[in-house]
Amino acid sequence: MSENSTIVAVATPPGRGGLGVIRLSGPASLSIAQALARDEAFAPDPNRATLRRLYHTDSGELIDQALITYFRAPHSFTGEDVIELSCHGSPVLLRQLVDCALALDARAAGPGEFTLRAVSNGRINLSQAEAIRDLINAQTQAAAQQAARQLNGELSAQLQPLKDALIRVIVQLESALEFVEDDLPESDNENLKTEISRLKSQIAALANTFRTGRLFRDGLRVALAGRPNAGKSSLFNALLNSERAIVTDLPGTTRDTLSEYIALEGVPVQLTDTAGLRASTELIESIGIERARRAMSDADLVVVVLDGAQMLNDEDREVLAAASEQTYIIASNKSDLPSFAPTLAGCAVSAKTGAGLAELRAAIIAPFANNDATHSALLITDARHHDLLRRAQDELQSSAQLLANRASEELTLVGLHNALRYLGQITGETT
Ligand code: GDP
Repeated sequence: MSENSTIVAVATPPGRGGLGVIRLSGPASLSIAQALARDEAFAPDPNRATLRRLYHTDSGELIDQALITYFRAPHSFTGEDVIELSCHGSPVLLRQLVDCALALDARAAGPGEFTLRAVSNGRINLSQAEAIRDLINAQTQAAAQQAARQLNGELSAQLQPLKDALIRVIVQLESALEFVEDDLPESDNENLKTEISRLKSQIAALANTFRTGRLFRDGLRVALAGRPNAGKSSLFNALLNSERAIVTDLPGTTRDTLSEYIALEGVPVQLTDTAGLRASTELIESIGIERARRAMSDADLVVVVLDGAQMLNDEDREVLAAASEQTYIIASNKSDLPSFAPTLAGCAVSAKTGAGLAELRAAIIAPFANNDATHSALLITDARHHDLLRRAQDELQSSAQLLANRASEELTLVGLHNALRYLGQITGETT
């Protein structure tokens, strides 16, 4: 893994901007910077920025003025010699500089290769590398916060005492195996069982935060469904605070599904407005209806919008029947009208006045919120971590069972070692 190549890439997103940053990592980083600055004696102080002119290494033409920062190994992100060139954000000049570096001793970095080097050189662990990816991809402030905490090593810090305790249990069992002629005394056996159960519950508690944690990362898909004119588009707009969907008085004119993202309590929510679900002979409408059904079945939650000022009719019942196949809530709309008399329990809202919208927002999140996991807690956001925690939990469960059955220590130990290995795989120390 620790090959001796020097890699180069533009670190800033494609496009024009005030700044464009090129990053180099590897042993030739400094000599490449010297060549670009046309100054072989250029010896920048580590961790300090120096303003230099950069030249084309073939033609000798001036390309840009840039701030050069040198991070000397091992005190850099990757643990290798790193050079950062802060140039002006022009794709043309950045391309030229990268080409010059490639013509010298560098090769183009693969996706995530800087982070990979940071992991293989022990600068960060695997879960921190994953946190960098999550931080970059975060869609809401809450998601970014969770990723930042994981990057800061909070997950590893939470796992460490669990691993330490597990190792103590393993050591105790292994020494019993070596030195004791007879079986473990009953009292020791009880203590070990209690300790394993305690660890199992702690791991389970952490794993259970995934239900909420997953939402912060991947978001929630919510579909608004209901018969034509119930007020789906109006409600969609009210929730979005915009006018993206077309609102009309004619039934069935919302022919497509429209999706937008909103943030509800830090959770990115993809809100989809569906067309009416009624049977139609018109082709374009049928396509819309087909999409509406798909949007409903793809959704994590369906909000059934009813016109609370009208009696429940067969169309409403059809929508309710379709929605009842998954998680759904009811929003009785048009609460501003004097004839408002909702037939079914649910949120009373008015897309027109905005009444009840806060309650509706809360009701959308409620089925997914985990009461154990407050926003201040570290949440498991990664499916891989969740899977490993669950496996560790299962192993501890079966070890506790074996102990209870007074099975041999060897058998009990297998599960404990597996559990330890799974916990280690989260941070990558056992991979
Ligand atoms: P959709 O077919 O379900 O998308 O319904 P629309 O959003 O197009 O709304 C249908 C009609 O109901 C429009 O004339 C809206 O102005 C009206 N409407 C929607 N929400 C409300 C509301 O909360 N109060 C009142 N009074 N009218 C509403």
